[in-house]
Amino acid sequence: MITEAANTPEEGFHIAEAGGVLTIDLDAIAANWRFLRQKISGSECSAVVKANAYGLGIEKVVPALAAAGCRTFFVALLSEGIRVRKLLPDATIYVLNGLFPGTAETYIAHNLRPVLNSMPEVSEWAAFSKGQNALFPAALHVDTGMTRLGLSIAEAIAMKGGKLAASFECSLLMSHFTSSEEPSHPTHRRQIEAFQRAREAFPDTPASMANSSGIFLPQTPHYDLVRPGYALYGGNPLPDEANPMRPVVRLEGRIVQIRSVEAGTKAGYNNRWSANKKARLATISIGYFDGYPRSASATDLKKKAGIPSGSAIVAGQLCPFAGNISMDLTIIDITDVDPKAAAPGDLVTLIGDELSIDRVGENAGTIGYEILTNLGQRYYRRYIGEAV
Ligand SMILES: *Cc1c(COP(=O)(O)O)cnc(C)c1O
Repeated sequence: MITEAANTPEEGFHIAEAGGVLTIDLDAIAANWRFLRQKISGSECSAVVKANAYGLGIEKVVPALAAAGCRTFFVALLSEGIRVRKLLPDATIYVLNGLFPGTAETYIAHNLRPVLNSMPEVSEWAAFSKGQNALFPAALHVDTGMTRLGLSIAEAIAMKGGKLAASFECSLLMSHFTSSEEPSHPTHRRQIEAFQRAREAFPDTPASMANSSGIFLPQTPHYDLVRPGYALYGGNPLPDEANPMRPVVRLEGRIVQIRSVEAGTKAGYNNRWSANKKARLATISIGYFDGYPRSASATDLKKKAGIPSGSAIVAGQLCPFAGNISMDLTIIDITDVDPKAAAPGDLVTLIGDELSIDRVGENAGTIGYEILTNLGQRYYRRYIGEAV
């Protein structure tokens, strides 16, 4: 089943008018969640849907995950939590970025749980709970090495048996890996040891540590609940191995025009690319405004230095970019494509098949996470799958 959603058709824009087509496979997201759940049998598999479900749309992704059986969700912000609550009256929803001062009442109004990331947040939640004569649930985040958010292990241990800990319901004790996508990184052992010390202070509280890649670590730090995000959306949790996840996103860009150029012809802003032989170039209607990073531009200098740049797939053929990516346009070199196989109006693949989100990230000098979460807002968005 296919629905033409998001910015279509309400705004009345037809697929033929779109510079790019973004297809999101909700069945693949559900299958990825089921795959992870089966892998961690014994603990609970939640879903991280922060950043608008990694850019793919909370309103579409969350119901698909709930239909697959997911009951616990993590978002970054209160506003995202409220969106998830509107979709799922009964789910458990945690807000990772924590309790911003003065927001406790809104949490309770929407039955959301903050992840308490500092002692002032713990104090505010405890005081609010006490004032309402209730034990409101919240997660406690301990810092085991990220140095970003979370109580120190000493602070967590000091709470043991004290007034603060008795003033609210600590429903989850969590920490976060710094480097789980590098299975042999020495920090995992240290982080797990530190987390273990915090767990001893909260022996009856469910625990959670693993993100997508964490689920695959040989130490299997699954505890009571895992928190995958990226892998649900098709990202590879094992960068050095074949991706076990199903791809979720396909991005296609439309060819606007095709031209033949002589050897030595320069192309794009600042003329940073030149044809080393007679070539055929296609200009496609996607640029950095659409979230395709300009850092994937193809220049002579980068080529000489062996730095990767972006490419597209045209009629099954990998075609390198040519020149700087513009705001709304990108030039690609289709010299090796059968001239009958590409014409203005055709769609070429920018994400999909061998161009995984991870590969596109590498080609832009970044990570697949950033590619996914930056996907632009003016694509013709199409959701596919039974879950639609
Ligand atoms: C984003 C996030 C996750 C999910 O991480 P992925 O690598 O996308 O699986 C899990 N836990 C916390 C605390 C996060 O911030």
